[in-house]
Amino acid sequence: MKINSKTMKLHKNGDVAYLTYNALDKIDFIHHAFSTRLGGVSVGSKESMNLSFEHDDFDKVTENYHRFCDAAGFDFDSLVASSQDHHTFVRVCTSNEKGIGIYREKDIESVDALVTNEKDVTLVTYYADCTPIFFVDTKNRCIGLAHSGWRGTVSKIAEKVVCTMRENYNTNPKDLVCAIGPAISKCCYEVDNDCADHFYALGLDDSKFVFPKGDTKYMVDMLECNRQILVSCGVKNENITISDLCTKCNSDLLWSHRATGGDRGTMSAFLVLK
Ligand SMILES: [Zn+2]
Repeated sequence: MKINSKTMKLHKNGDVAYLTYNALDKIDFIHHAFSTRLGGVSVGSKESMNLSFEHDDFDKVTENYHRFCDAAGFDFDSLVASSQDHHTFVRVCTSNEKGIGIYREKDIESVDALVTNEKDVTLVTYYADCTPIFFVDTKNRCIGLAHSGWRGTVSKIAEKVVCTMRENYNTNPKDLVCAIGPAISKCCYEVDNDCADHFYALGLDDSKFVFPKGDTKYMVDMLECNRQILVSCGVKNENITISDLCTKCNSDLLWSHRATGGDRGTMSAFLVLK
């Protein structure tokens, strides 16, 4: 399988296929990846690489994590997972949290973003159309991952992550390198009035991310909206890379909630300091 992307690369190791960002591959003190549908052992509507423990067999999902980690070069024991529900709480992770949400019980709910400045603590967040955002502070060497669906986007979870990294790690936004996506993109992300109103209320240049379609429907570009939020926080535009792979348009490779009608598996983003 080939992809047509200027910003991401598709890797294949055995049956496992995963994506990385060209811009993040250049940073030598991190390792990152984004999973695809391919290379796991889940069956039925979650065939085959499903990385969510909800509504699937625990042993199969655990095996999927093992296979993914072996293929993409992560330490299974170092994983720390989010507990997403479309809010904006950012969890500060240390080695004490290793295993949470993967092979240890979740200890808190409502965690849509993770940050750390410790090596060998691998952050893991979940997606199937919602927008992933990767954060790397290239000066102070700390990282973050956010799950930014439309609710997270209009609640500015991206800004919350930048603030949390500044408060905890003294991050200057000018030193951040960020990557946004893969997510459902403006070609496919249609919303109604109520949703669009939240995007109009942000006070950003919404002519670039809300596109009226008839009287009551809108196409929304969540990636561009998140880019503007990051720039408004002081992240340099040239340090932001955006995925050009729409999850719905590429639903043979990527899990898409809308392409599957919701009966689907889930992808994960992985990010660790080496
Ligand atoms: Zn699309």
